[in-house]
Amino acid sequence: VSFGHFGFDSPLMAAISKHGYTQPTPIQAQAVPVGLSGRDIIGIAKTGSGKTAAFLWPMLVHIMDQDELDVGEGPIGVIVAPTRELCQQIYNEATKFGRVYGLRVAAIYGGESKYEQSKVLQQGVEILVATPGRLIEMLKDKLTNMLRATFLVLDEADKMFNMGFEPQVRSIINRIRPDRQTLLFSATFKKRIERLARDVLTDPVRIVV
Ligand code: AMP
Repeated sequence: VSFGHFGFDSPLMAAISKHGYTQPTPIQAQAVPVGLSGRDIIGIAKTGSGKTAAFLWPMLVHIMDQDELDVGEGPIGVIVAPTRELCQQIYNEATKFGRVYGLRVAAIYGGESKYEQSKVLQQGVEILVATPGRLIEMLKDKLTNMLRATFLVLDEADKMFNMGFEPQVRSIINRIRPDRQTLLFSATFKKRIERLARDVLTDPVRIVV
């Protein structure tokens, strides 16, 4: 499989080659076409597999397909991840490719000024990367909202559950319209993740790399 098979537009293709990516990784080869088709995914993949771009590229296409990009300031694509470090990594990758379309990307996580993060949110974002606890706080304080959110990624779901974030993760999902597209990534697929997948995904495609 080559990048040409994905049907990306030329600005995105140019950004991919500018970043030195010559060939999709196995998770990208499998997940990108499914993500672009609009279907839910359960992806069993580890960090280092290229899974970030595997969910970001379909998210970008999804966002650019929206008719009324200018309505509201809450995110359209939401990525929930367990740690600040992972949020920052995802943020960097999202900025790299989101820049192609002038999309606004923000990252919010604990241990840093809520005020500074809320200032960024108030200017409006299309893509939000967040740890579960901080996102819930921001939603409760009405500093952002899920009114525009239609594309949700749960990254390293097993790690979020191990850290005790299951209630927060479920609460976030429940605030997003049920006809969203949801991509769930986990390094392992144990009972609790299986249950989450059953509860929040619609007819998902399972991808194991
Ligand atoms: P991830 O598993 O998403 O954390 O990605 C691991 C690393 O691989 C990151 O530094 C990415 O920038 C890089 N990467 C992602 N996709 C590709 C690709 N198709 N070719 C080369 N490097 C990539």
